[in-house]
Amino acid sequence: MAALLERKLVTGRVYCPICTHTVEADLAPVERGLTRTMKVLPGQKCGRCSGLLDAAYILDVSAPLRG
Ligand SMILES: [Zn+2]
Repeated sequence: MAALLERKLVTGRVYCPICTHTVEADLAPVERGLTRTMKVLPGQKCGRCSGLLDAAYILDVSAPLRG
């Protein structure tokens, strides 16, 4: 079960509140007690408007990246 504790980055689609478009971003799992949520990796910029995606909404999470 140790594999479940590894921090894995996944890609997902997020909603950029600045340009109101859906863009891809790297997400990181966040442990909160017994539940796991996803968080947008800080410091990423939107590919459309170059705005920070820290406040973006996560819409969809794709399969975890390998490696
Ligand atoms: Zn944007």
